[in-house]
Amino acid sequence: MNDCQNNVSSQVSPHSLQSSFSLTHTRAQGEDMRLLQAPASVYVTSQCSKPQSRGGKFLERRILQSAINDSLLSRRIVRQQFCVTRRTVNHVSATAASLEADAASLLTIEAENDVLKALSQIIDPDFGTDIVSCGFIKDLLVDDASGEVSFRLELTTPACPVKDMFEQKANEVVAALPWVQNVKVTMSAQPAKQIYSAQLPAGLQTISNIIAVSSCKGGVGKSTVAVNLAYTLAGMGARVGIFDADVYGPSLPTMVSPENRLLEMNPEKKTIIPTEYMGVKMVSFGFAGQGRAIMRGPMVSGVINQLLTTTEWGELDYLVIDMPPGTGDIQLTLCQVVPLTAAVIVTTPQKLAFIDVAKGVRMFSKLKVPCVAVVENMCHFDADGKRFYPFGKGSGAQVVEQFGIPHLFDLPIRPTLSASGDSGIPEVVADPQGEVADIFQNLGVCVVQQCAKIRQQVSTAVMYDKSIKAIKVKVPDSNEEFLLHPATVRRNDRSAQSVDEWTGEQKLLYGDVPEDIEPEEIRPMGNYAVSITWPDGFSQIAPYDQLQTMERLVDVPQPVST
Ligand code: ADP
Repeated sequence: MNDCQNNVSSQVSPHSLQSSFSLTHTRAQGEDMRLLQAPASVYVTSQCSKPQSRGGKFLERRILQSAINDSLLSRRIVRQQFCVTRRTVNHVSATAASLEADAASLLTIEAENDVLKALSQIIDPDFGTDIVSCGFIKDLLVDDASGEVSFRLELTTPACPVKDMFEQKANEVVAALPWVQNVKVTMSAQPAKQIYSAQLPAGLQTISNIIAVSSCKGGVGKSTVAVNLAYTLAGMGARVGIFDADVYGPSLPTMVSPENRLLEMNPEKKTIIPTEYMGVKMVSFGFAGQGRAIMRGPMVSGVINQLLTTTEWGELDYLVIDMPPGTGDIQLTLCQVVPLTAAVIVTTPQKLAFIDVAKGVRMFSKLKVPCVAVVENMCHFDADGKRFYPFGKGSGAQVVEQFGIPHLFDLPIRPTLSASGDSGIPEVVADPQGEVADIFQNLGVCVVQQCAKIRQQVSTAVMYDKSIKAIKVKVPDSNEEFLLHPATVRRNDRSAQSVDEWTGEQKLLYGDVPEDIEPEEIRPMGNYAVSITWPDGFSQIAPYDQLQTMERLVDVPQPVST
């Protein structure tokens, strides 16, 4: 595709500052690809014309051209045949005009089908479905006479890590059709919108995804992760906001350096206007100013809610919330007001921190929020050519096994990371090619992919079929389906309530679970686990991998009339 000409037509948005650090690398699905990032709200159009004949390849190209011409010719012959038909019919009947229109539209439909069939070879690696079935192809225009094709590829998020691959492949597969002379692909993303937007405060309705960055105690690097994740997502082309909900120690003001360090109020609408730094919108108590009216609210959580829901965020693809540390009332209230899409848990690698992670996952599970990644911060440092693990090797494997959270990111101790926390420039912006930026890029890709999956509800389909008293599990991306006995599922719980976390000793005994136990509710937790609520109020997190290893029901019970 060396002959492709890239034309970038842009409508500059207020977020266009993002493009100042927009050339990044990403690794997704095992591919190392270079992403030329575009500012959000920009339609990027690439045009691919068939190569012109020149030089030593002349003959080869002439043959190719003649093949293309033949193909065009045959189409024209078909057209002419229709035209002849038209002339003949003109003599006979006044319905000729409509016949010709039918013929032309038949050709166009046929050509459109060609294009869609070609595009359906491109599979979205996240959804496991082709981009046509995903509904990404919009505004398809085909002129079969001239061989011109244009369409828009509307992705779920402007930060899609494989958007360049999609664009290139879309150009390639359509240009490969023998009658196509010129392909014009415009890249765009769905407008920012909450799934249940009608039930939300106005300020949150135009935010596609809300990500909570949480930790069970302070000082583990939660704010560092929240801020760098936000700037990574912005660097990937998304419209991003940060809400610093850490009332006890708002660290955002030292981590970024916006020109306007005080939040403004819109006196008419009584809304808060966020401040902005390098294209990312932000609200923090630290920017509220001493003695301002909004700070005199009666309750901390009330003030958090007011700040968050009355802010004029505008259209955002991702709002990153730097949660107050802990899993208490403030966190619970916040999670109930805000429709969180996903959570990222930050911890340090001590063995004891595992209990913190468990608490965090359980809190979000109760709130129906899937945890998509755990960041183990301050894992190691390098000195004298050696790697040191001051807090031990961590409990990442245990997290993966028990909660089925497949994404674990290790962040090293780096003086630059703490220095950038004080300098007002996030590390991923200060050193976009560095090791830390690389780790955040992987975290960003993970967050984008998981949120897209959650939104599209391509999560594991697990449901309780009351008529046969069995839990039905449908394996994603395949037709495999199996049944589990509810009591078996409950008996296989691996949480601290059922198994001693330290000794591995089984605490929940076989006879403790009634044979006829039935789940009250089953909800998907992202793409990796389901949360099952039992009649005793226990909420079991059953990772999908674990469900697959359980003993299955072979003799399907007869349906029971209810
Ligand atoms: P929290 O939000 O959990 O209270 P912060 O993100 O404010 O934690 O981090 C606490 C301190 O530790 C800050 O000074 C920050 O710069 C520093 N810090 C965090 N992560 C790292 C790291 N990986 N390497 C070096 N310093 C770090």
